[in-house]
Amino acid sequence: MTLSLDPDALNTCVSCGLCLPHCPTFRVTGDEGLSPRGRIDAMRAVELRGAPIDDEFVEFMATCVQCRGCEPACPSNVPYGSLIEQTRSVLATQKRISPWWERMGLDGLRHHRLLLAGSSVLAVAQRLRLVPERFGLGRLPLRRGRSIEASATKDTADAWLFTGCVMDAWLRDTHRSTARVLDAVGVTYALPGGGGACCGALHAHAGLHDDAVEMARSVMASMPGDAPIVVNSAGCGAALKDYGHLIGTDDARAFAARVRDVHEFVAEHADRLPELRRSDERIIVQDPCHLRHVQGAHLPVRALLGRIAEVVELDDAGLCCGAGGAYSVMEPELAGQIRERKLEAIDRAVAATGATVVASANPGCSMHLEPELLARNLTVSHPIDLIAEALP
Ligand code: SF4
Ligand code: SF4
Repeated sequence: MTLSLDPDALNTCVSCGLCLPHCPTFRVTGDEGLSPRGRIDAMRAVELRGAPIDDEFVEFMATCVQCRGCEPACPSNVPYGSLIEQTRSVLATQKRISPWWERMGLDGLRHHRLLLAGSSVLAVAQRLRLVPERFGLGRLPLRRGRSIEASATKDTADAWLFTGCVMDAWLRDTHRSTARVLDAVGVTYALPGGGGACCGALHAHAGLHDDAVEMARSVMASMPGDAPIVVNSAGCGAALKDYGHLIGTDDARAFAARVRDVHEFVAEHADRLPELRRSDERIIVQDPCHLRHVQGAHLPVRALLGRIAEVVELDDAGLCCGAGGAYSVMEPELAGQIRERKLEAIDRAVAATGATVVASANPGCSMHLEPELLARNLTVSHPIDLIAEALP
């Protein structure tokens, strides 16, 4: 049994180890097998040397957060993201990863009303302390308010606003903020039609390749035309931008080219922003991996936040926080250890600057960090929420 990996991609790795300090699982364990180099070597052993897919191999692959922090650090441009995604797809097909209950939960993301209802039930269960903390679920909202409405029809709108599944269930306030900011720069927006609720990012992460492709096709059909697609969840934006690679057609590549992270998009229209209220606050920027390492769209966040407050950088070179889609649920122990490193960096930044706010542009990261930040009297907000609050 092979993994159907590209031998050239595997052999691009020269085992230099420059990626190791950027790998959260290596940083917390010191285990070579839980590093990018170790994982690539294990893939090579299976693919090129006929080694069996044993339990140790499965553990190496299952514990990867898929943060892709190793990619920008790699001088050989090893396409690690593609390698791990293909490997996990094979393991999922063999039912070696992604147990039935994870698949069932992910299936629920396609049915938006069901997700909203389930999320409300979970929120109540959390308040009654019926959800074990080891699952690493952040505090879910009891109320989310009404859905946002399109400001134009699909034929006349300047852009599409992708609202997503979890983002709409857990952080709908951020959609309202995004709508306000788009209004402020004079951009009209339409909302995706039927079938456009879930981008399939978590399915791709879980190795459920066919499901991810099916959902990507559905999302593409829900936002036809040429208008840009604005996304305010870093994980979803990275997934939508990857549709060209995932599906491999010209249509998918054209769709992916229309996708813009909301910060990129607003920064491009920043000359149309009204004067924003500036405060004395200091804002710590926590970069979601899929914004920084995958989309490379972390600088526009700073450009926007710098208009309203002093931006505080963390000193951990964008190391992952351990959320990783469903990772904090699947690997709670490692996710907790990785989060500790992030919290130590945040503590250092707070001690040096007195910052009280952490800005994070991904629902998974903010939900993962929020309980620990609240315990430190820190708040976590989406950058676009902070920009919307500063509008006149
Ligand atoms: S994707 Fe992240 S966790 Fe996985 S090997 Fe690369 S740096 Fe490590
Ligand atoms: S993945 Fe890149 S940085 Fe890491 S060991 Fe291989 S060549 Fe070096």
